Amino acid sequence: MEYDTRQKKEVIDMLRASGGGLGARELASRLGDVGLSSVYRILSQACREGLVAVSMRGRERIWSYVGSCSHHLHGCCSSCGALVHIDEAVSGRIAALLETEGLRLSEGAMISLLCPECSRKEAGK
Ligand SMILES: [Zn+2]
Ligand SMILES: [Zn+2]
Repeated sequence: MEYDTRQKKEVIDMLRASGGGLGARELASRLGDVGLSSVYRILSQACREGLVAVSMRGRERIWSYVGSCSHHLHGCCSSCGALVHIDEAVSGRIAALLETEGLRLSEGAMISLLCPECSRKEAGK
């Protein structure tokens, strides 16, 4: 599919600069000149290319820049929404385990988990 590379760069740069994750609506409103439907199109393309990963915050999809990461999986804390970079060796073991069941994680998939901090809070309840 053809799309505007300048808009794509703007979207990716904005995500990268944000440090954390952003929703498509928030991205579109910050960018101003890129429409929401273009933002969605760019994000799903970037997701297939492994530049961004998607997670859920409540019912909203949150997109995070992970373009500089390649050989590991990502998780999203279901409590605070933090993006978690999973150690490469651990990621490899998870992938290998899934493979024994004939399973493979989708491109850009995020594992829903509790980050160490939230995990400690839960345990302390
Ligand atoms: Zn957390
Ligand atoms: Zn990463």
